[in-house]
Amino acid sequence: MASGKENGYTELMLDYSIPSDADFFHFTSNNTIYGAQWQTLPTSKCPLICDMSSDIFSREINVSDFALIYAGAQKNMGPAGTVLYIVEKELLGKTGRNIPSYLDLSVHIDKDSMFNTPPVFAIYTSMLMLEWLKDLGGVKAIEKINNQKAELLYNEIDENPLFKGYAHVNSRSKMNVTFTLTDASFQAKFDEMWSKANINGIKGHRSVGGYRASIYNALPLSSVQALVNVMKELATVTA
Ligand SMILES: *Cc1c(COP(=O)(O)O)cnc(C)c1O
Repeated sequence: MASGKENGYTELMLDYSIPSDADFFHFTSNNTIYGAQWQTLPTSKCPLICDMSSDIFSREINVSDFALIYAGAQKNMGPAGTVLYIVEKELLGKTGRNIPSYLDLSVHIDKDSMFNTPPVFAIYTSMLMLEWLKDLGGVKAIEKINNQKAELLYNEIDENPLFKGYAHVNSRSKMNVTFTLTDASFQAKFDEMWSKANINGIKGHRSVGGYRASIYNALPLSSVQALVNVMKELATVTA
């Protein structure tokens, strides 16, 4: 086990090593609360298990490096209510203990993902989203756009003296950009300005404070530009 607790989860533990006799290595590829993301995904001889709920389909990954990938649909795939699993077949049936049938992936596979009544709306909407993504040029194309969005916003955070990034530069998320004001007395003004610009939901998670711009696949570059414009304007009106 490794923990980034000491540094407030702002930085990934990069000096980790995976014991060669480990049964598996589990990690979460992106932390939505603190805005930290694995820039380079680990590789290992032991089975890798990853919770990719918040950055699945946002960047190219080597799926075959993983024994198991799982992701809740509700960030980059579709509405809440369904989960995507990518699992290596050889891994199934090896828990070594009795587990509830619903938690056994082989049960779901045997029933063609219809062991329970499937949430058809969430699955259908996910299909439409995947078709949209495919038409756009696939993960490769959205990754390019995501990089542009993140670069635009982080550049403004770094250049504008009124703002400071929350996550460490080496761990910055391209999905959830966390930042604070350097002078809290500008908060009311900033909040009024972004709200007037029709920007919603950029208040930081309650456990962190500050601001968090979630710039998932669905958010266009123009929306990030709208926020950057407000940040620039704040610097002008408070100068
Ligand atoms: C979004 C997310 C959660 C929270 O799940 P919700 O059902 O959206 O509240 C938990 N874990 C990970 C890795 C996530 O990305």
